[in-house]
Order: sequence, then structure tokens, then C-alpha cells
Amino acid sequence: MRHLAPHPEPVELTHAKPTLLLDWNRRSNKVRKVRRAIKDHLYRHQYGLCGYCEGSLGELGRHTEHVEPKAGIGGNPARTFDYSNLIASCQGDTDKPKPAQDASCGHYKDQQIHADGVYTPADFISPREPGCDQQFRYLLDGRVEPTALAGTADHRRAAYTLRLTGLDCLRLRNRRRQIAERHIRQIDRYKNDPVSLQRLINHYLGPRKDSNGTDVLLPFHTTRRQRFFP
Ligand SMILES: [Zn+2]
Repeated sequence: MRHLAPHPEPVELTHAKPTLLLDWNRRSNKVRKVRRAIKDHLYRHQYGLCGYCEGSLGELGRHTEHVEPKAGIGGNPARTFDYSNLIASCQGDTDKPKPAQDASCGHYKDQQIHADGVYTPADFISPREPGCDQQFRYLLDGRVEPTALAGTADHRRAAYTLRLTGLDCLRLRNRRRQIAERHIRQIDRYKNDPVSLQRLINHYLGPRKDSNGTDVLLPFHTTRRQRFFP
């Protein structure tokens, strides 16, 4: 999980806020315009990656995710247009028929909360929380697990977050394992060639342009970074 550092909300949201009702799905041009601005703003700030799985939003589709749900179980309508509560999430394959073990991210989290019948916001690690990137370890075999020792509060929170978001699902494990194995081979090949190794690091960890000219990162950035900088 990449930490999404604080950044200013889009001006469209700031201007509309005093008169916005707390209804995200309201059919009005004003709400539609604000939602569009938020979606684009988050995409740029997150370098085109899902805030949870770090998959490519361009490939997987995206929605604006309320980290603390705006409605339903554990819902907090007051945070509907609270920018610090919003991230861009991929669709996590939840809209396709497939084994449930392959689903992840924002919509999957809604399903898990519904199944649990309860949501504990204090136990959920948001990508906007400082230090969130230290809470998860991406293993060579593609699994992701809490960094903290079992039995600690940090471990409990990380495990809860992984369960709700499905970040350790088989589909994501397989993708991360393939990437990790490729980088391990490359690092080994260039271990005595620091110039080529640095070029690789720049290539895989640096930003590039998407088809609209927006800076994006390659998917699974943290998996890659933890291989180059274990
Ligand atoms: Zn995702």
C-alpha cells in the first residue's frame, strides 16, 4: 500500500461545498461535475494506481472510494464529500463472474462489511494514513502480510484491512509473484553493474505518461520497490 500524502482537494469541490447536500448519487449537474473533478484529481495524485491493490486504474476501471463508507453499515454520511476520506479504487474484478477468492478493493470491501454486519473504522488502515506503507510486507511468492508481530494492535489492524480489501487474493498474489520473480532475476543479472541496475530502477519505479499525458506509475509499485530496496 502506497501512502497517499495529503494534497489539496479540487477547487470544484471547494467551491461547491457550502451548498452541496450529502448525497453522492444525487442526479444534478453540480454533483456530477464535482464527482468528475474528484475522480480525475485522485487519478493524477495516485499516479493512475488503485489506492488499495496498486493495479492500473486505466486497465481495471475505477470508482471513487469512501474509505469510511458514506452509507450502510458503519456509514458516516458527514464524510461523503470529505476529501481526506476519498481515494480512487479499481473495480477489483467484483463486477465479473469469477471465484470470490479473486475479488478485491473498494467494492469488495463493501461486500465484506455487509457480510460482517459491522465496520470498525479505527481498525482499518487507509492509504491516506501516514505510515500505512510500513504496515504491509510483500513477499516473494506474491502474498502480502502484516509487518507487525502477531498479537499487536498494528497486526490486528493490518490483518483486518487485508481481509476487508482482499489484497491477498489469489489473482493479486499471482500478479505480484510474477513481477517479484522477474525483478529478482534482473537484480541478480545486474548485481555487478550498478549503472544498468540504476537504469532498471528508474525504468520500473519512475513515472511515465499515460495516453492522456498524465504521469502514472507501473502497477504494483510497492511490490517492485520492496524488491529493489528490501
Ligand atoms: Zn485495486
